[in-house]
Amino acid sequence: MELFSKNYDTLNEEIKKLLEEFNHHHNYQETSYIFLLLYTMIFFNNYNEKEKINYTHKLSKNYHHFQNKLESQNKRQKYFLKDFINNKEFYQKFLYLFLDNEKEIYMPADDYLYDDNFLTETDMYEIAIDFLKNYHPTAINLFNELISNKRLYLLDKDNQYDCQGISIYNFLYKSYFVFIANDNDINSLISIMHELGHIIDDINIPINTPNKEIYDYHFKSTYIEVISSMYEKEFIDFLIKENINPKVASLYLTNYYQTMYDDFECLNLLSYLPNSLLQNEKYKTKDKFKITEALLENPDIYFEQSEFLNPNILDLKTHLNYGYGKFFATYFSSLRKESYSDFQSQFSKFLTLRLKNLDSDIFKNLGTTMDLAISQVESEINQSSTKIKIKSKQN
Ligand SMILES: [Zn+2]
Repeated sequence: MELFSKNYDTLNEEIKKLLEEFNHHHNYQETSYIFLLLYTMIFFNNYNEKEKINYTHKLSKNYHHFQNKLESQNKRQKYFLKDFINNKEFYQKFLYLFLDNEKEIYMPADDYLYDDNFLTETDMYEIAIDFLKNYHPTAINLFNELISNKRLYLLDKDNQYDCQGISIYNFLYKSYFVFIANDNDINSLISIMHELGHIIDDINIPINTPNKEIYDYHFKSTYIEVISSMYEKEFIDFLIKENINPKVASLYLTNYYQTMYDDFECLNLLSYLPNSLLQNEKYKTKDKFKITEALLENPDIYFEQSEFLNPNILDLKTHLNYGYGKFFATYFSSLRKESYSDFQSQFSKFLTLRLKNLDSDIFKNLGTTMDLAISQVESEINQSSTKIKIKSKQN
């Protein structure tokens, strides 16, 4: 059984076809989208360094106006900042409620990560199908197609992109490619499930959705990591339940929650920065001292100065997307177990709401409250096999 394709014909053909699109009539937004798509596909293709440079050079030389757009990316950041600044009160209230409870975190020793956890591609395939059968039967076809149509590729072993996986969805042809850093272990499979979630997310966008809304969802939405994180979390839960590398899986679950809290802690600090420092991401270029000073002026925030990270690792978009991604994924997966009808009703509302940008009525619009959702997530964490325990102050 071969999970990853070593044949790049499908990808090469699509790159050629997309290059042709520049000769057709597309509006500015579509053309810049095609440019971005091509840029990414060329970047992750298995071209050698020289071919890669040739391609990207050709692309940027002929379409330099899009190149500028791609490089600045300021528009996107500005959008996120605007949304964040406009909704500061909502974020602060949420973060206050969620972060204020006492947590005991005990990270277990990870020696056994180095045990022999080798999985063949056949093992990986069988575990994945077992999971999908139980949790997402409608995704089985897509997963099989991904493999049989040779659209699942390996990332370069020495990939400098520092990522576990990436999925590329082409809205023009409704086609997709997935790249994974494969170490033949559970982590690689977790990454595949996460990326599969992204593809499912894209495929389920209603057919009559205007293109602009689809682009905005991809580049500007707060909820872009929710469904992918749901696939990831439910897969880890499945591994623990089915006793498949349970110790390692439980460590990944601890890590999943830990990174969610880390993202929210960072978001919380950002939410207390004056707007003048948030504008154009000025906080990234200030030194630690300046940021600490600005934060200390605010009596509403308490933080450990010694634990404060360098401002340049703060990134609003990342903390928002992954923090909320993991939060809502935990919420929905917990609700699914507890009350399937509540899950169905709220999740179907989410599928529509996710295409809109953050609105501070999100909990109300789902049919719940902020407090209820937070309690649900906390009780899910407390019931799990991880070493994170939350003592709620409210009760
Ligand atoms: Zn993702």
